Amino acid sequence: MRVRWQGAELTFLLDPEDEIAGEAADGHPVKLRTNSCRVGGVPDDAHNDLFAVAAWTVIAPWTRERVTFDRAISSELAQALHDGWGVEAGPTGETARRAGRTLALSYSGGADSVAAASMVPDAPFIHFRRVSHPRVPNRWTHYRSDVLARLAEQTGRELTTVTSDLEFTLAEPRPGYPEHHAVAVGALLLADRMDLGGLAFGYELGSRWLGGDRYLLRFTPDNPMWAPHGAWGRLFAAAGLHIVLPVGGVSEAVTMRLALESPLRDQLRWCLRGDGGPCRTCGKCLYKEIIQAAVERRPLDTPLTEKRPVVQKWLRKPPFGGMEMIEYGIARIPDLGPLGRAKEYFPDATEESTAWLDRCYRPAIDEIPEPWRQPIYAYIEKNVGFMSDEQARKVEEWGS
Ligand SMILES: [Zn+2]
Repeated sequence: MRVRWQGAELTFLLDPEDEIAGEAADGHPVKLRTNSCRVGGVPDDAHNDLFAVAAWTVIAPWTRERVTFDRAISSELAQALHDGWGVEAGPTGETARRAGRTLALSYSGGADSVAAASMVPDAPFIHFRRVSHPRVPNRWTHYRSDVLARLAEQTGRELTTVTSDLEFTLAEPRPGYPEHHAVAVGALLLADRMDLGGLAFGYELGSRWLGGDRYLLRFTPDNPMWAPHGAWGRLFAAAGLHIVLPVGGVSEAVTMRLALESPLRDQLRWCLRGDGGPCRTCGKCLYKEIIQAAVERRPLDTPLTEKRPVVQKWLRKPPFGGMEMIEYGIARIPDLGPLGRAKEYFPDATEESTAWLDRCYRPAIDEIPEPWRQPIYAYIEKNVGFMSDEQARKVEEWGS
């Protein structure tokens, strides 16, 4: 792959061995649609390694053997690319970037990122806003990135909104991040200006330790996306921007509770559709309603019927991504409405059997780099509490 940045426009050209069908780090198949994208709201004077990592978040799935950047990178970064992906990266010759002092939060406005925001109260927000691509028709017009950006502005937190059309480089399954880390493209290019040494993401226990929603569905201490010693963790660290997961040890039940208790509750939004309020009928709305009803111990409130595909999704035989939250909901929701049949597959669900999902998995805090670990630890200790050894075994035996 050959990479060129002109200002904040990224263009890439495939080498003969590259392919348009690729896989993201979580094994998800992604197909290339077009070879250019733009990032708005960022300076053009970032360290070369930051430009390289920003490009890599877009091109990684389609690069097979080598990547040639338009400016020299550090040998440390080339090594991280080689160790993580087996690619030859260059040219080299730049000195490695030193980590800055500030921690920023990649903020979406969903429950997980609002909960993370509570744990890092001084962190400025960086919000990724999708904009249209000049050459790719938008087949997903109901995605209201403008609504999400407006809500982010209303939080009162220090905020930088970065715009990008990079999701349109992806042809299938639909516009989206080629790699999850592409959401950080703006933070990477802003890292020098903002003196960033860490970037917090709202990835929770399921994504970090339980194999995610479209991934392995087993205990994944070596998660290539989010473990500090995984391919992406080492790459970001090599560019002086450590990945920090404040909510990496807690479930979506905990992030929901913390988000509902947060001063940002009024800006909370997980639904990507609808301009007035959440649509209540998409898969995300239903899933989060299950979690919210469980946290509030009230009947499920949904207009959906059992026949709808988004409901059927949760009536399947396990294993499936998010099943821990379904079991948690079954144990706590007094009336499951159209989801009543989900009980068939979780006959033993009780509050006790799912109580581990109300506590924090301690190794998730241990892996947060200094100087950010201690304040997050203190917050968790005060507001959440840690799993017992027996509860931690639920995490460590997950999927086995
Ligand atoms: Zn919705």
